[in-house]
Amino acid sequence: MRLILLGPPGSGKGTQANLLQEKFEIPKISTGDILRAAVKDNTELGKQAKNSMDKGELVPDDIVIGLIKERIVEPDCSVGFILDGFPRTIVQAEKLEETLAAMEQDIDLVADLVVDRDELLIRLAGRSTCKNCGAMFHQTSHPPKVEGVCDECGGELYQRPDDNEETIVKRQDIYNRETAPLKDFYRKRGKLKSIQGRGGMDEIFSNLCKMVT
Ligand code: AMP
Repeated sequence: MRLILLGPPGSGKGTQANLLQEKFEIPKISTGDILRAAVKDNTELGKQAKNSMDKGELVPDDIVIGLIKERIVEPDCSVGFILDGFPRTIVQAEKLEETLAAMEQDIDLVADLVVDRDELLIRLAGRSTCKNCGAMFHQTSHPPKVEGVCDECGGELYQRPDDNEETIVKRQDIYNRETAPLKDFYRKRGKLKSIQGRGGMDEIFSNLCKMVT
């Protein structure tokens, strides 16, 4: 199964990708996670990406396309993959299509998580992520049992630096301008399915599982 999770920042792509990865034993590829790790390790890639990420802007296409091209040829991707946060522009989608075609592969499904803008702002402002395992929590809808500590692995929770109000609004605007056109791109190819992203994460996950199986 080769799946793309589409949806604005805060729509729950990361959470759902983690759950899908566990259930179907298919790797999740999150360009955001790869870039954040590079920034943390202060690698050349991290240095190139940090400025755009801090401002809530997109990292240049050629950088993320290069990352994905390297990642999807790794052996664990032979069973498929779940893309979270990629593609985010039409150019990225076209390059992905080209790369997969050269490998005689294709995307099976693009699941578009639909959530209202107001709800997105509430979700992003209250979310925290585990530094160690990437599990996600929310101060009202999914609080950790102990504040600041991950339920899954005991790791430390942190708030992403780009989850502040000003950057959140900018990320939503960029999503609407650069990424939302991908819906038409994949609709034309008969791959797009929309899924209601409101409600609890278990309910959304169960709907998503029905869609992919
Ligand atoms: P995310 O965790 O998916 O919200 O990504 C966090 C940040 O990483 C984004 O705001 C962008 O700055 C950068 N980023 C992640 N994926 C991409 C992508 N496919 N294209 C460009 N920038 C990206």
